[in-house]
Amino acid sequence: MEIKDLKPSLIWGLFDQITAVPRPSKKEGKIVAFLLDFAKAHGLEAEKDEALNVIIRKPATPGKEQLQTVILQSHVDMVCEKNSDVQFNFETDPIQTYIDGEWLKAKGTTLGGDDGIGVAAALAILVSKEIEHGPIIALFTTDEETGLTGANALNPAFLQGDILLNLDSEEWGEFCVGCAGGKNTIGTFTYQLETAPPDYFWFEVQISNLKGGHSGSDIHKELGNANKILARYLYALSQQAPIVLSKIDGGNLHNAIAREASATVGIPIASKEKASVQLNLLQADLLTELPAEDRKVQLNIQSTTAPAHAIDAKTGTNLILALYALPHGVMGWSFDMPGTVETSTNLASVKMKEDHKIVVTTSQRSSTASAKNSTANMVTAVFKLAGAAAKSSDGYPGWKPNPDSAILHVSEAVFERLFHKKPLIISIHAGLECGLFKEKNPKLDMISCGPTIMGAHSPEERLEIPTVEKWWAFLVELLKNIPAK
Ligand SMILES: [Zn+2]
Repeated sequence: MEIKDLKPSLIWGLFDQITAVPRPSKKEGKIVAFLLDFAKAHGLEAEKDEALNVIIRKPATPGKEQLQTVILQSHVDMVCEKNSDVQFNFETDPIQTYIDGEWLKAKGTTLGGDDGIGVAAALAILVSKEIEHGPIIALFTTDEETGLTGANALNPAFLQGDILLNLDSEEWGEFCVGCAGGKNTIGTFTYQLETAPPDYFWFEVQISNLKGGHSGSDIHKELGNANKILARYLYALSQQAPIVLSKIDGGNLHNAIAREASATVGIPIASKEKASVQLNLLQADLLTELPAEDRKVQLNIQSTTAPAHAIDAKTGTNLILALYALPHGVMGWSFDMPGTVETSTNLASVKMKEDHKIVVTTSQRSSTASAKNSTANMVTAVFKLAGAAAKSSDGYPGWKPNPDSAILHVSEAVFERLFHKKPLIISIHAGLECGLFKEKNPKLDMISCGPTIMGAHSPEERLEIPTVEKWWAFLVELLKNIPAK
């Protein structure tokens, strides 16, 4: 069994062609040329913008001219990951696909089903002579995977439609109707270097063995944040005895929940035992507070030689108070989508830098712009109280779920008619290209759906073959039933 034997042959044949065209993120020249040639060969009007985003227009089929214009949107780039024992050049080599039961896979590399199958579906609709539909704009964006830069730079004239179907979801049976926007807020502490008291007990405290996770899709799990745990310990200890900080470090990426944090701390010799007593108390408390997957958390202290220098006492105290006071986790739940996080903030990292600076990075997300901004302001207020300089990035916009969306209601009705069950309606707490589209054309009515892809962004990526046929049947039926203008 090969790809060309799969049904529906139109979409699979096109997917097969696309897998032969190299298309790493930021190197989309070949696939863009492929799309423009494709449009030309089929007598369709095409345009590209400066970011190499492409649109191809197809007029309505006879009798359907009055329907709303549908933008079929997919991204052309793919994540390029391979197993270390595989020789493969993503800039020149075609993806080697094979069928394993109900799954299409690639030999040791990412498959590029994300979002090659979306591209293939759009092309199939463009060339089909059988489907009935209103006016179609197929929109192909670049560089989705490394920061949505194609969508961000998209020519707004490419979004002159009424409905946008995003073809980049990875769970068949789910309709995504919202996503979060995000921004980072960074606090910078400037400290004086002071002589470290040599007659103190000096030790390193380490928080480790937390699970960590994505600050968007995992934030509702209430996982432990190593930065917060470290701050809680240092605060508790500072209430027992004067403490001096000489080093602090925690977390890493702005979009990850911190798994590890550490600090080098001095405490008067007479209070030495309090360092381990407070640690044991905290460890016991955490085991009753943290979710099961985080109960392997380790809190350790190890004595160390006295450092030459330490952070001045006032800045050290302000830093501990700020880290303890800074919010982290879910800030609000969606009213329209029960069980979905609307707003969150992540206390991502604490890093010592040159010039006596300590940089604290935080990251806010929300599908509601005002809630995102208010949370960033709350974080800024804590930094200001602690005497730190604070700055928020512009960030990227979200897509707030619209319970009155016409395309959602039509999609639900078509899905139920075809499959005799209800689809799952979800909103994700992470960024999607749709947020940027909504910002450029606020009138767009949008929905996202796709066939099932597992293991995306890794060599385990696989596409569930039967879901492609169902998705295709759904798209064909949906296009027929688009509301009139
Ligand atoms: Zn994708």
